[in-house]
Amino acid sequence: MNAPHVLIVGGGVAGAAVAYFAARLGTWVTVVDAGRHAASEVPSALLNPVRGQSGAVDERAVEGLRLTWALVETLAEAGHPIPHGRAGVLRPVPDGRARQKFERHLPPELPHTWLAPGEAPVPLAPGWEHALWLPEGGWLDGAAFTSGLLAVSGAEVVRGRALRWDARSVTLEDGRALRGDAVVWCGGSVGAGWAGEAATHRAGTLLTLDRPVTRVPVSFGAYLAPAGVGGVLGATFEAPASTWQAPTLPLRSLGWLLGKAEALTDTGGARVTGRWSGTRLSGLVAGRTPDGVWRLSGLGSKGFLLGPLLARHVSGDVVRAARV
Ligand SMILES: Cc1cc2nc3c(=O)[nH]c(=O)nc-3n(C[C@H](O)[C@H](O)[C@H](O)COP(=O)(O)OP(=O)(O)OC[C@H]3O[C@@H](n4cnc5c(N)ncnc54)[C@H](O)[C@@H]3O)c2cc1C
Repeated sequence: MNAPHVLIVGGGVAGAAVAYFAARLGTWVTVVDAGRHAASEVPSALLNPVRGQSGAVDERAVEGLRLTWALVETLAEAGHPIPHGRAGVLRPVPDGRARQKFERHLPPELPHTWLAPGEAPVPLAPGWEHALWLPEGGWLDGAAFTSGLLAVSGAEVVRGRALRWDARSVTLEDGRALRGDAVVWCGGSVGAGWAGEAATHRAGTLLTLDRPVTRVPVSFGAYLAPAGVGGVLGATFEAPASTWQAPTLPLRSLGWLLGKAEALTDTGGARVTGRWSGTRLSGLVAGRTPDGVWRLSGLGSKGFLLGPLLARHVSGDVVRAARV
């Protein structure tokens, strides 16, 4: 029996990770990617298992975190070093009530330590009562991780935009039609917009900095983190929108971000060198949809924490179904 041929629409972290795991299962993989507006190009993404301002922890967070770090090692061994820092994440917490909320969510299997602000590895600005230290967290370069996965997968990459797809074929805007044994849609926020889907998009911005303000990422509301070059200050913080729009940086957002940085720590005169803006899609789907097309989308702000883990599940299911 010939190896199944899997067609993937979208080459962000979702599509690249599905390609990687599907290829490891012995399939022939083609990725169709427009290469535009990928949220996965984020210059420095946190691997932070304790989310948002309520401290929610996804039940798959610890497994996802460890798998992503394992992939960073695998990619480096395969000749694709990924700029990253596996140095922990610091979550300052404003007061006892917020700490209680965090504590309710923290699973025993997630290594963590509560610190007094004075014990934190980063000198925090005044006003924080507690700090949660997550030693297994860190940051990585989103674009390098994604392109590394795609390269190591050995997938054929077709540059272009898919206009239509069904359970076994994908038609590109130049009229080319590709046929395969399964189709996996991983188009992210921009793809949901192009497809005219009802969806929730959230835009955000990272300011790139001439140097990292802190050695380890610090996150509450916004995050400061090292990056492959310099550092970043960012968040996905714009109001949710039901349609995709090219992200911009309104002046009030710039002011908000700079204020968040000062509220976290002394930025010590770091200079802003540029900006990267993107949109992410909410509403996780990881499986087969009623039209027979598989899908991994809606990774929200956890694309690098959970994307590879969910991709491993989805690709396993895709390949099993394609072999039946
Ligand atoms: C400002 C910001 C900060 C973030 N910070 C973090 C963080 O710290 N940690 C974290 O884990 N996550 C973070 N995220 C979220 C993370 O970036 C996303 O969850 C993840 O990148 C989504 O990956 P994806 O592959 O689903 O989509 P994308 O990366 O958007 O990729 C989709 C790809 O598919 C292509 N495409 C779409 N439709 C078609 C089509 N019809 N034909 C061909 N190609 C198509 C697009 O051009 C694109 O290349 C952040 C996001 C933003 C915006």
